[in-house]
Amino acid sequence: MSRSRNGGLTPFERLRSRFEEQDLVCPKCGYDDDDGKWLAETTGNRIQYRHLCPSCGHVRRRTYRLGEE
Ligand SMILES: [Zn+2]
Repeated sequence: MSRSRNGGLTPFERLRSRFEEQDLVCPKCGYDDDDGKWLAETTGNRIQYRHLCPSCGHVRRRTYRLGEE
């Protein structure tokens, strides 16, 4: 009754769009990777995100478990 089931994003997609809107600035060198993105890898019920800074090569990783939001 509240909202349609169509057009809703999956947890995965919501998580990803949240990432893509922010946090592309490397904490190490401060490079703003405007064209970059977090690469997602799904393993089982986990999503691992990886971002490689094109400036200094610093790699950040974040792991989320689905269904814990
Ligand atoms: Zn960097």
